[in-house]
Amino acid sequence: MIHYRIDVADAAAHVYRVTLTVAQPAAETTLSLPVWIPGSYMVREFGRHLSGWEFRQGDRSLVARQLDKTSWQVQADPAEALAVSYEVYAFDTSVRTAYLDDCRGFFNPTSLCLRVHGQEALTHTVQIGDLPAGWRVATAMPPLRQPLGFESQDYDELVDHPFELGTFWRGEFEAGGVTHEFVVAGAWPGMDGERLLADTRRICAEQIRFWHDDQLPPFSRYVFLLNVVEEGYGGLEHRASTALIANRRDLPRIGQEALADGKLTDGYLTLLGLISHEYFHTWNVKRLKPVEFGRFDYSRENYTELLWFFEGFTSYYDDLMLLRAGLIDAPRYLKLIARTVNGVAATPGRLRQSVAQASFDAWVKYYRPDENSPNSGISYYTKGSLIALLLDLQLRRPGKGASLDELMRRLWRRCADTGLSEADVQAAVADLGEPALASALHAWVHGRADLPLREALTASGVQVGEDTESWSATLGLRLSEGGPNGVQVKTVLAGSAAARAGVSAGDELLAVDGWRIRRLDDARQWLQPGAAFELLLSRQQRIRSLRVEPGAAAPGSSPITLSLAKEPGAGALALRQPWLGA
Ligand code: ZN
Repeated sequence: MIHYRIDVADAAAHVYRVTLTVAQPAAETTLSLPVWIPGSYMVREFGRHLSGWEFRQGDRSLVARQLDKTSWQVQADPAEALAVSYEVYAFDTSVRTAYLDDCRGFFNPTSLCLRVHGQEALTHTVQIGDLPAGWRVATAMPPLRQPLGFESQDYDELVDHPFELGTFWRGEFEAGGVTHEFVVAGAWPGMDGERLLADTRRICAEQIRFWHDDQLPPFSRYVFLLNVVEEGYGGLEHRASTALIANRRDLPRIGQEALADGKLTDGYLTLLGLISHEYFHTWNVKRLKPVEFGRFDYSRENYTELLWFFEGFTSYYDDLMLLRAGLIDAPRYLKLIARTVNGVAATPGRLRQSVAQASFDAWVKYYRPDENSPNSGISYYTKGSLIALLLDLQLRRPGKGASLDELMRRLWRRCADTGLSEADVQAAVADLGEPALASALHAWVHGRADLPLREALTASGVQVGEDTESWSATLGLRLSEGGPNGVQVKTVLAGSAAARAGVSAGDELLAVDGWRIRRLDDARQWLQPGAAFELLLSRQQRIRSLRVEPGAAAPGSSPITLSLAKEPGAGALALRQPWLGA
């Protein structure tokens, strides 16, 4: 058996102490910490936060050898238990690593628990040591009889259970015959916990019905671990829980008027979308997963070309489930789709990288964005969700009578145990009577051309209109404005008027035609639309003047609005009604 005792060594200094006991060590025992956490595709080198090592057998101190950046080896007597003790510095508020201060603790075992090579299949137990007064523990890891003890069947299961420690709010509800626990750390007094539980329950019930009709889901307990902060957003999926981070102000508040009539604030809608997204992953990526993820290699990148399916299709369903659960209506749902369509259209990198390539390159591109990212790549989340939308609309065409729902359930039944390949998706699409659609899907996934969405939406009873664009977007600039550093250029979009004029990321924009600006849109007061102008800027302390000639907008890049067509034809309505319920 492998046992970890985890103690709060120094909360103010953000330090845990971990004591690992290997009951039957190998004569040459190798230990290592993962370099990444499944679900977040980037090598993060968790081992760099370990220090203060002690290797012991009985009262004998052993000398270990470090093999590489994340592995250690020690010669041990197999007849006696090996105890390895070390400190872990934990001061990252994200959901991917570990955190500790005098208010709360959080950790993923990928950050704290060394893997004992060759003994991964043994039972792994965790004991949380003495905690500050009033602190509790939340995790989906099954509890042991002893206080604050937990047990996993093997190392893979161990590292799939994050822990929250502290004086958090806790609530509970039942959905699909399963108890769901919801923990919120850091909320203001007056949070409307009942509302949060009721809305989350509707999402969970909808998704369990989606995958299993009236059957029980493949987990007996589920835990939401939400940490709210002044400014933050993110989530990480696990098979029986999720760790979330969100803005404190986005939680529903008791007596909040905007919520009383069923309308959600934008912030709360974002939070519910995040909850829906991570919960959908309980099936799509945690159980139905890329065939390449059958056995994780914790020591290096694990590549797959399928994140457009696992993240993109999950992104399509996260908001759709809010609609189906009655939390938003169809017009609001269409606004969310329009935002995604416009975001993809405003990303020149969509013409340089396919979503299959974006998936494979996630480790060095999506997770390591820089000022040039919008020019060199596309998000497999956003474009992947549009591929799901397009595929859904094509499957729902009159006379076809299928849907993406049916495709997902078919893949679940066929591939949840074996792992999913792109050929499985192609075969399932072809089986639904659509061989031509299977080859179209291949082109959307591996090609870089814009998707034929406008036609598909119009044929589905959706009105496509033109939206207004900010001036910075028209010029091809992504800016940071309003802060003490003035108007800062974050990104210059390839092929834009700003790019042609020679504007660079990092420039501070000072004046337009001799007039000082605090926001670029200020200049709309005195400039003629489309007219050329002089742009004064500061670049690495030197003042420069550039001539900008706006010119015509790039085709297909102007933003759109989406709404329900007032008078759809019978065919369009027959498609729209089961899709949007409107
Ligand atoms: Zn996701």
